[in-house]
Amino acid sequence: MAEATVELKDLNFAGDDRVVPFQVEGLDVRGRAVQFGPLLNGILGRHDYPAPVARLLAEALVLTALLGTSLKFEGKFTLQTKGDGPVDLLVADFATPDSLRAYARYDEEALTDAVSAGRTTPPELLGTGILAFTIDHGRGMNPYQGIVPLDGSSLEDIAGVYFRQSEQIPTRIRLGVAELLDRDAEGKPRHNWRAGGLVAQFLPQAPERMRQPDLHGGDGDERSDDQSEDDAWSEARMLVETIDTDELTDPQVPIERLLFRLFHERGVRVYQPQAVLDRCNCSRDRIKGVLDGFSAEEIEDSQENGEIAVTCEFCSTTYTFKPEDFTAA
Ligand SMILES: [Zn+2]
Repeated sequence: MAEATVELKDLNFAGDDRVVPFQVEGLDVRGRAVQFGPLLNGILGRHDYPAPVARLLAEALVLTALLGTSLKFEGKFTLQTKGDGPVDLLVADFATPDSLRAYARYDEEALTDAVSAGRTTPPELLGTGILAFTIDHGRGMNPYQGIVPLDGSSLEDIAGVYFRQSEQIPTRIRLGVAELLDRDAEGKPRHNWRAGGLVAQFLPQAPERMRQPDLHGGDGDERSDDQSEDDAWSEARMLVETIDTDELTDPQVPIERLLFRLFHERGVRVYQPQAVLDRCNCSRDRIKGVLDGFSAEEIEDSQENGEIAVTCEFCSTTYTFKPEDFTAA
């Protein structure tokens, strides 16, 4: 084990809010892992969501960062859910090179009912509906969109299904969120959110090794498909499944240490981490551009006490305009 200890010591830990790409050559696995700290408190603190909604949004943010940082071009990756649960809309996007933002929309009454019934896991909050991943290359190209059903499974499982079905890439994702209570400088209790996640994908040289157990085909489909999974991928997948939420969120356990625990026997290598920032790309100009498209009547309807106030749903910044800014047009 002496050699392994040296490897770990040599690692320069990425720290919070930085996505760490990794590769496990012995298993033909590549992936990314991240732990969120200050970034998450920044985003969630601004919205003041009830804890179950904040937890759900944290999962979506981790997933978005893990997938968005894989873009190899300038563009944007968006995760969006629409469902019939108390949280009917969830949007998180990552714009290259480093900007992450998100918001959730929920029905207060339905959420209160769900909380009192103890039904507050992410799948219970989302209900059934769809999860869409959109990749926008910009420059006038059509965005690519993949859609998978929200069916009561966890976000990590649904995302795994997406990669299996749409990309034919065996993929296992783990997400974890923790709420720690600590105290601010004045000694007042304060929510301190942490979250983390890992995505592992099986990318062998030979495409025939990518063969996956088929998805269950519904009634009467009793095929046992375990035999068709590649041994290397079975091993990697099962290792990823041993990850505890604590390992993804504990500030004392750097994400590299988790990678080492999982994969050191197979030779895990980490690459330059990629910083992720709590940053929204909204602007006064952009919002004005939207209002410029309004008719005089719509402008009149939008104003209150001689002012049009537009609040960005992502970052809660409010931009105010005068109706006169538009009526001249
Ligand atoms: Zn904004």
